[in-house]
Amino acid sequence: MNCFGGILDPSTYNLEKPIGILEDKNTILKAHGVHSADQLKMLGIDCRLLSVFCTSKSEEFGGFIVVFDYMRFCSDKELMEAIIWHEIGHLANPVTLNTFNIEAEIACDRMAFENSGPSGIIKLLVKTKEMGKNLGNQLLVELTNQRLYALSTY
Ligand SMILES: [Zn+2]
Repeated sequence: MNCFGGILDPSTYNLEKPIGILEDKNTILKAHGVHSADQLKMLGIDCRLLSVFCTSKSEEFGGFIVVFDYMRFCSDKELMEAIIWHEIGHLANPVTLNTFNIEAEIACDRMAFENSGPSGIIKLLVKTKEMGKNLGNQLLVELTNQRLYALSTY
């Protein structure tokens, strides 16, 4: 079951159509190959890092940011804004689920950097790198290093 978290105002976020924020635990678990919420907890994963962008087939919405836990998503405004702007970046830099496109991610990070400031997006990437280390996912660590390096050049 998914439930509506919020709607991003087009004028605030410079959008053609509003973007919805949905809480949908199953979509997030499936997108990341995690079996259960307990497993997330056990692995010490910060669920805010798992947010994904989905395009919309409806006339009303430009797309949806799907989050695991809406309250948790909103708990740190800086991080939340960085995630929102990064995900909005995926409107212009689409990616398909289960693939990783470093150029698209870097372009979306830049979107967050320019619109919500450096500290939120840096926090997000440092947390992502930590997660990669904790999971023993060397590829994630390396890709996140590349994204951090790109930010340092702006
Ligand atoms: Zn992304």
